[in-house]
Amino acid sequence: MARIVMKFGGTSMAGTERIRRVARIVQRQQAAGHEVAVVVSAMAGETDRLVNFCREASALYDPAEYDVVVASGEQVTSGLLAMHLQALGCKARSWLGWQLPVRTDDAHAKARIEGIDSDELLASMAAGEIAVIPGFQGLTAGNRITTLGRGGSDTSAVAVAAAVKADRCDIYTDVDGVYTTDPRIVAKARKLRHVTYEEMLELASVGSKVLQTRSVSLAMKEKVRVQVLSSFIDDDAPAADTIPGTMIVSDEELEGLDMERQLITGIAADKNEAKVTLTRIADRPGAVASIFEPLAQANINVDMIIQNIAKDKGETDVTFTCPQSDLARTQALLEERKEAIGFYRMIADSKVAKVSVVGVGMRSHAGVASTMFKALADRGINIQAISTSEIKVSVLIDADEVELAVRVLHTAYGLDAA
Ligand code: ADP
Ligand code: ASP
Ligand code: MG
Repeated sequence: MARIVMKFGGTSMAGTERIRRVARIVQRQQAAGHEVAVVVSAMAGETDRLVNFCREASALYDPAEYDVVVASGEQVTSGLLAMHLQALGCKARSWLGWQLPVRTDDAHAKARIEGIDSDELLASMAAGEIAVIPGFQGLTAGNRITTLGRGGSDTSAVAVAAAVKADRCDIYTDVDGVYTTDPRIVAKARKLRHVTYEEMLELASVGSKVLQTRSVSLAMKEKVRVQVLSSFIDDDAPAADTIPGTMIVSDEELEGLDMERQLITGIAADKNEAKVTLTRIADRPGAVASIFEPLAQANINVDMIIQNIAKDKGETDVTFTCPQSDLARTQALLEERKEAIGFYRMIADSKVAKVSVVGVGMRSHAGVASTMFKALADRGINIQAISTSEIKVSVLIDADEVELAVRVLHTAYGLDAA
């Protein structure tokens, strides 16, 4: 017998028929003799719908109230799945985020889990009851509802798996594993049987939304075994225990598997970035700090940063990227401080996308970046900004060119399936 946490994403939970199928998958896992807890997302499209209501209410809505609104999508699906499980004769009940509770900090809309009380959950699981937990939801120390950022149900699932010391956390979604790039964009993407935590972390952080970044860092830290697999399966499909999907493994485990490592693991794109340029900033110590300090205080994650070298005038332009969802707040914060920062103009552009290549092989091989630049140049794709880490190279390009860029790079690094 094992203890398994199963997570089902929005597409898997979209509508009665799909929830019924999810219930059968869960029932089957329990019938195999396992203790099961299930974490669910809102129905596909529901969180977007709720976010839009908030935006319509106010461009600068209160993030605490936003959380009250958007957390509701998961409440619906958790109750519905519990009903469907009961209809199949299983003992099941929902546990809302505040009922467990899932304790988080108070960074509304992107809260971080601090701990989950799992005693009651464990007792109910041990009694053969299936626990259905809405993902995405948390509770601050002051008992306000929080959410964990878009895609946060993955993190809820991993956190529950860590809290109940699960043998495995199965993340069911609408693709059957992690691919070399988004299989919906590149038909020739290849499924990876294994990917390391480190590579998955980097892929997620640069836009492979198949797993939320925090879920991967948490799994790495807590040593949770994570599998990504499809919920769009027939009743007689191979059981999850046979690992039909992609397993996230440690470096040592991968070496033990004796696989030939690819230089590049995968390619990811992120269309949710926005670019902001402040012109004619004084080229003096403290100028850059005065831009980024208020953004940091407002919990806005700035990603790529470029400061042009000042020429004769002692002035410089600073360009950076931030999430599109934070653009309005970023602009408001900087505009308020226009005098203090001392910029001339602020130019914002949300028609940009970031494309990244990821692979641990980069540590020991030169030329990865130049292959990227050349492949993009050959197709006339202009690079607006570049950033690198030890195992990643990212470029910012026009949003209209992102799909072409991903395809071109997939071929350039020899990742296309035969
Ligand atoms: P869920 O609703 O189940 O959480 P998501 O839409 O968040 O599902 O994530 C699954 C999607 O991630 C897939 O449909 C696919 O389009 C996308 N995706 C992006 N990059 C990858 C990748 N490298 N491998 C697999 N899927 C990817
Ligand atoms: N429903 C939330 C979202 O769409 C959380 C999730 O699905 O993981 O971001
Ligand atoms: Mg997701």
